[in-house]
Amino acid sequence: MSYHKINRILVIGLGLIGGSLAKALKRKQFATLIAGFDMSPDEVRQGLELDVIDEGFNELAACVPIADLIVLAVPVKATHQVLEQIKPLLSSHTIITDVGSTKANVVAAARDVFGAIPSGFIPGHPIAGSEKSGVIASDDQLFVKHKIILTPLPESDPSAVQQVARMWQATGAEVLQMAVERHDEVLAATSHLPHILAFSLVDTLAREQDSTEIFRYAAGGFRDFTRIAASDPTMWHDICIANKQQLLNQIDNFTAGLAELRTAIEHTDSQAMTGVFTRAKAAREHFNRMLTRSAYSLNRHQDHVTFRVRKAMAIQGNTRVPGDKSISHRAVIMGALAEGVTLIRGFLESEDSLATLQAFRDMGVVIEGPHQGQVKIYGVGLHGLCPPPGDLYLGSSDISMRLLSAILAAQEFDSRLLGDDLLMTKPMVRITQALRTMGAQVDTADGGVPPVNIYAVESLQGIDCTMQVPSAQVKSGLLLAGLYAQGKTTITEPVMTRDHTERMLQHFGVDVQRNGLTVSITPGQTLKAADFNVPGDMSCAAFFIVAAAISPNSDVVIE
Ligand code: NAP
Repeated sequence: MSYHKINRILVIGLGLIGGSLAKALKRKQFATLIAGFDMSPDEVRQGLELDVIDEGFNELAACVPIADLIVLAVPVKATHQVLEQIKPLLSSHTIITDVGSTKANVVAAARDVFGAIPSGFIPGHPIAGSEKSGVIASDDQLFVKHKIILTPLPESDPSAVQQVARMWQATGAEVLQMAVERHDEVLAATSHLPHILAFSLVDTLAREQDSTEIFRYAAGGFRDFTRIAASDPTMWHDICIANKQQLLNQIDNFTAGLAELRTAIEHTDSQAMTGVFTRAKAAREHFNRMLTRSAYSLNRHQDHVTFRVRKAMAIQGNTRVPGDKSISHRAVIMGALAEGVTLIRGFLESEDSLATLQAFRDMGVVIEGPHQGQVKIYGVGLHGLCPPPGDLYLGSSDISMRLLSAILAAQEFDSRLLGDDLLMTKPMVRITQALRTMGAQVDTADGGVPPVNIYAVESLQGIDCTMQVPSAQVKSGLLLAGLYAQGKTTITEPVMTRDHTERMLQHFGVDVQRNGLTVSITPGQTLKAADFNVPGDMSCAAFFIVAAAISPNSDVVIE
């Protein structure tokens, strides 16, 4: 069976979702007929009056046999009953899809009714909606730029999947595919749990004695958070039953998290509280970046910037250039690995340093800021990093990837480092090869490019190596790894490279020995928290220095 042109679409259930879909498809003239069925004659009449459908029906026998594609837009609990009703009326080529908020029970209903899943049965779920209901709330823009998840089954015919996807794309939606179980798991976390929280919070407060006062003074935050508590109670009752186990798992997860926060509040544990709040604040943005593989700082990707330059006779004034990137970056690393709280001033909010900062947050380090160049890091010590919950995403920062590879090679957990499309093409061979000489277990994709996979090893070994190619990044990586190794690590460079890492390690109380081109570090040392002022970036200052130097009568102070 191959499913091709869709001429007649039937939407069963002219509610918010069914009505909105019908209206959007009618506006786009997606099919020759957009028909609607509803048990309520009033809803059908309204659907016609509001120009949501071309034809309306109260009898399934009158509309099911003529449909090429049927969309079930009824509560998930009604799916079984509706499938039973339409089964004897279906023609062999009809595609059936649905919009139910849970998928495993819809699939179970289809299996029960049909025996074997028909090849034209394609479950779906629009991730769009509102707390309104009924055809009166139909909105032809409801799905624009929203995601639609299709959960095709092994039995599903690819051409039917394609037709259903095409229908949703016509409404302006983006179509994704997912396995049924994964859908229910993801939705339990991202939709079902937040709704349950909103219902429970509003109900709990409403039952308090002075509830009138509480609601009178409820401000924007409360309203934003609890808006979804106005959603349809029947629908949510059905969802809780349909996705019971996944939802219970998420409620348990959340309850454990809330209990931790409660303990932190009870014991005035500022670090724990700040940890939760700062991680949460950063997480929303971070996941978005990670999912879209976009960079941490957006400026460099803006389309066009035009500078108009006019000749000046002389340049004068005071200026402060942004903080040094390499140093900002190392300050985060060392602050995180130190014992105690480090305050960094003059931190540069650049792609690299933000990527590193987020990586340490992902490994359990509490970091406040950056705020106006200040970052406060609650160091966890050399051995205090936690396994990250997933891959570490480093945007476009190759330096973050190299230095973190070295630190992670010495941890007791496995990790995987990823970046944006550009970073995924950058070779990591020099650092990974160097780390392997210390006994690290590290691999990359073909050609030495990321992802960098790092596997836990018992311990690293100190090395005495002579670098063939000068590289401050590789040297820094080996020195950081050397802090964890057994025995001394000694590196000899062909020429001296930037020594930020050595000097900063000394600032954090680590003994680093230098002898000409050779630098050594012994393990067993701890980094001690030490406030740090990031100096201005010399490369940025260079422009002003040169401009002043070549223009007579100039007088510039660079702070
Ligand atoms: P709605 O506005 O209340 O519409 C439900 C429709 O289903 C109504 O037309 C109702 O008919 C009809 N219906 C109810 N029981 C039925 C039965 N036993 N047989 C035939 N028709 C029946 O609800 P909705 O928000 O559109 O929700 C519909 C579906 O979309 C649900 O499965 C829900 O999980 C899913 N969904 C909703 C949202 C959302 O935000 N609302 C988002 C994504 C997915 P009457 O006119 O007689 O009441």
